[in-house]
Amino acid sequence: MTETRANYVNGEWVSSETGETIDVENPANPSEVVARYQQSSAADAAEAVDAAVDAQDDWATTPGPERGRILREAGTILQERKEELTDSLVAEEGKARPEAAGEVQRAIDIFHYFAVKAADLGGTTKSPSVRRKNLYIRQEPVGVAALVTPWNYPIAIPVWKLAPALAAGNTVVLKPASQAPGVVLDVAEALDEAGLPDGVLNVVTGPGSTVGNEFIENEGTDAVSFTGSSHVGEMVYEQATDAGKRVQTELGGKNPTLVTDSADPAEAADIVATGAFGTTGQSCTGCSRAIVHEDVYDDFVAELVDRAESIDVGPGNDHEMGPQASESELEGTLDYIEIAKDEGATLAAGGGRPEGEAVEEGYYVEPTVFTDVESDMRIAQEEVFGPVVAVLKVSDFEEGLTVTNDVDYGLSASVVTDDHTEANRFVDEAEAGVVKVNEKTTGLELHVPFGGFKRSSSETWREQGDAGLDFYTIEKTVYDNY
Ligand code: NAD
Repeated sequence: MTETRANYVNGEWVSSETGETIDVENPANPSEVVARYQQSSAADAAEAVDAAVDAQDDWATTPGPERGRILREAGTILQERKEELTDSLVAEEGKARPEAAGEVQRAIDIFHYFAVKAADLGGTTKSPSVRRKNLYIRQEPVGVAALVTPWNYPIAIPVWKLAPALAAGNTVVLKPASQAPGVVLDVAEALDEAGLPDGVLNVVTGPGSTVGNEFIENEGTDAVSFTGSSHVGEMVYEQATDAGKRVQTELGGKNPTLVTDSADPAEAADIVATGAFGTTGQSCTGCSRAIVHEDVYDDFVAELVDRAESIDVGPGNDHEMGPQASESELEGTLDYIEIAKDEGATLAAGGGRPEGEAVEEGYYVEPTVFTDVESDMRIAQEEVFGPVVAVLKVSDFEEGLTVTNDVDYGLSASVVTDDHTEANRFVDEAEAGVVKVNEKTTGLELHVPFGGFKRSSSETWREQGDAGLDFYTIEKTVYDNY
């Protein structure tokens, strides 16, 4: 029988007052319902905020090392359950197994990282201008943090918000995306078992327009951290700032890899293919534009097409590339493939649903390459969120830089080059929050800041590493005369 999972509010597992649930299907086999989740209301969300408000003072004054102990213990529990969590990610989101296992490990590592940070937090001391005075700056928690997260990294993204929020002494209300919420409830279970006090974390599943909206509007929440599409994120930003809250939004991308004339076409094709087709093209940092010098263009395209056509597509447990996460995501990708054809781009690989027994049922799409793409085409400007890469030809490095920046987004950008000067110019001039030399646009280290420029981010605060703690802390300056 299909399991029905409850919300986690004030340390209890509770059903929604609506009595309604939502089914999550397996994108590799949509007739299989993986689990049912609460289709919660604004009233359920408000109850969660009340619990977080009530728990705030006590958690804020819990010693940092004790908060860190709970985070470490939760990470250890998740490590013991890594196989189950990986199964859940493959079944709900459709990820290929190694990608799912890597994402679960990232969440575990983030808990362990912020467990140490929780003990280190405190502030700084400065030399005062007079004798017999202590002058110091304390870092205090902001209060109740509202976290709203997307489906594409269903465990890593909630945890990279949750762990610094808890480490710094905030209480949390969290709404995961409806496509793959199971792993967030597993995280809540691990924190509960690790001894997290009641009300410190509250997870409510349901629609963004009711649960997410209530978290943002409710006067009990002090800070809003949102990751998702630019369209929704920009509305959330306005709404949260109008309500006087601290807000960060991390949004979509249209990430380029610039391939210069000194690049080895085979190496460049490896970098672009892994960036574009990894996680079925469903990464915010996924490569969706290859901007290629005309001298290496033909060789590069041949190598890239070869890689696209050799990817083994099928159920994530035993294939290299899994399905898209839902029917609407698949339709979105297929629509963009038609748009690119209508715009006059040349379809060089893929372009449709794959054939074969293994892929009959799920939301599969072929790894797709378009060539002869011009920068003003929609396929070169808009986020596709599927395994589709547009190849644009440029005649020199300067034009390559111009095309790199010729989009509204600015999340991740990479260059493939043997020329040190070009590499440095790219680092200087690429308008992106993450810039890489001779590496794919995807893949992040957990201990350095992450965030975008332009429409990819509110550009207010960064996530991850030390920067990740800044959003969840506020400074108090103390002048203590004695
Ligand atoms: P989405 O914007 O549709 O949804 C994100 C979350 O917001 C979900 O939990 C959703 O339920 C909620 N939501 C929807 N409407 C809301 C509303 N009116 N009020 C409050 N909450 C609301 O995004 P998605 O489809 O889940 O995720 C894919 C998008 O996320 C892509 O654009 C991708 O680039 C982006 N993304 C960005 C990053 C980053 O760090 N920059 C990371 C991962 C994904």
